[in-house]
Amino acid sequence: MLEMTINEKACRGCRLCQDVCPTECFAYEAATKKVTVAVVENCIGCLSCAYICPSGAIAHRNHHVVKNFYRNIEFSMRMEKFL
Ligand code: SF4
Ligand code: SF4
Repeated sequence: MLEMTINEKACRGCRLCQDVCPTECFAYEAATKKVTVAVVENCIGCLSCAYICPSGAIAHRNHHVVKNFYRNIEFSMRMEKFL
């Protein structure tokens, strides 16, 4: 079962994770000005939130690791000629 945690102390409430998440896993808490995990069941483990978080506050466990070729610049440049 995939687990996701946000280091509350590290979170600066920028909401980038919320913007980037394709499955709306996050919720913004106006009172604390921080983001929390709202629906972890929706998470597809794309790790976009963890990549984009400027504080490195988001961690995943037990997620299925895949080759994210669309984020790998070198690989994308090699593949460009076939597209
Ligand atoms: S991207 Fe990181 S710092 Fe910004 S709201 Fe999300 S967890 Fe907090
Ligand atoms: S890993 Fe992807 S699907 Fe899961 S919370 Fe982060 S951005 Fe959303």
